[in-house]
Amino acid sequence: MDIESGRVIICGAGPGGSALALVLASRGVPVTLLERHDDFTREFRGEWLNLSGRRALEQMGLGAALASVPTLAPSGATVFVNGRELFTMHAGDPDDEQDHLLVSQPALLAEIVREAAAYPNFTFVPQTTVRGVIRDRDRVVGVSATHRGERITYSGDLVVAADGRSSVLRRASGLQISADHGGGYDMIWFKAPPPADVDPRVGYQFLQRNGTAFTHPHPDGVHQYGWAFAKGRSAELRRDGGIAWLDAMCSHVPGNFADHLRAIGNGIDAAFFKIVSHHLADWYVPGLLIIGDAAHPMSAVGGQGINMALRDAVVVANLLGPLLLKGEPNLAIIDAAARAVATERVPEIARIQALQERGSKVLNLETKSAQFMMERVLPLLGKRAAPLLARGVGTTREFTVGVTDVKLAF
Ligand SMILES: Cc1cc2nc3c(=O)[nH]c(=O)nc-3n(C[C@H](O)[C@H](O)[C@H](O)COP(=O)(O)OP(=O)(O)OC[C@H]3O[C@@H](n4cnc5c(N)ncnc54)[C@H](O)[C@@H]3O)c2cc1C
Repeated sequence: MDIESGRVIICGAGPGGSALALVLASRGVPVTLLERHDDFTREFRGEWLNLSGRRALEQMGLGAALASVPTLAPSGATVFVNGRELFTMHAGDPDDEQDHLLVSQPALLAEIVREAAAYPNFTFVPQTTVRGVIRDRDRVVGVSATHRGERITYSGDLVVAADGRSSVLRRASGLQISADHGGGYDMIWFKAPPPADVDPRVGYQFLQRNGTAFTHPHPDGVHQYGWAFAKGRSAELRRDGGIAWLDAMCSHVPGNFADHLRAIGNGIDAAFFKIVSHHLADWYVPGLLIIGDAAHPMSAVGGQGINMALRDAVVVANLLGPLLLKGEPNLAIIDAAARAVATERVPEIARIQALQERGSKVLNLETKSAQFMMERVLPLLGKRAAPLLARGVGTTREFTVGVTDVKLAF
């Protein structure tokens, strides 16, 4: 089946794709949003929302949507180094430079799409997996997809790839990625209750050489756990019916956490993530614009990726929104504006990815200076070392509010 979608086809209803769809649709641009999943109830990779992302949502008119979904501000974080508890930072401490919130991403995405659906020029098509692009000579003019086993093509003036870190559309574009800033780690990621003897409102950071672990509360009432392990160990960690990782991770957390996780054992539904972090230098080939993780997959450090994807959406709306509202769009002008998206966004993405890489080295005590700071200075200074740790990990103003000035003007 061939569907003439009109103006914009957005592929992927993650934070980047759904927010962009809402802004464009609310201003009158015809938008079709394609998503491979049926709904948003799946597991997500991290749900920290920083001030930079919250401001983007508010500018898009999504402040009320954010207020209506489950969120949580952890009341602090307890830091352990090499198994020894050092201090707890409390939210609101004078040293607490962070201003972030955990948000239930499934609820937020569902709310964004629900708001977009109020506009007659918006179409959401779930259960639709995009397979590739359709070209007319050198220009992308649509995508091919499958919907419940049926092959469908969608054509439009502009295709936006917001299909995440394994983007099929990025591969189809032929655009080249920069060097990988992901460091030498992959990650195990799961939700489970906290041990009964710890404060459930607080997060826990277990810092040690080559493999930091953490847990923090989540709006749905459980804790989010993560453990970074050296790349190349996935196969070994999946042995023993898939839970060899449990013993390995338990050697990186204090005894009460280890006992608790072992007791849950097989009941833990753990996901293995390859940590990748890189970006495209150009985000556009004629007719196809790539944004969010599809253009710049982000690592977990500092909870930045959702925020960066939302800020991409703001810039795309500013540069392309007014052009897409015009009756018969001038494709040459659209091309120039779409190319300018990367020019505006790459400086922030490159800086944040470099900070994430540096943060990963500190969290995993990889460098001599990180080992000195964590193993010698922190135990001496205790809580007074918190700002030093925050700066080392990169949780500075840049992680909180972003690097460049991003404001919705469309
Ligand atoms: C372990 C880990 C933890 C993280 N923690 C955080 C955090 O706490 N805070 C934070 O801000 N960032 C975090 N990140 C990064 C964050 O997950 C991403 O940067 C962010 O989700 C990117 O948003 P996006 O909209 O670009 O893509 P995604 O959120 O990946 O959304 C892409 C969408 O496209 C859909 N899709 C994919 N392929 C197709 C297809 N072929 N056809 C149709 N639809 C398709 C997917 O189903 C999905 O809905 C973390 C990353 C990792 C690896």
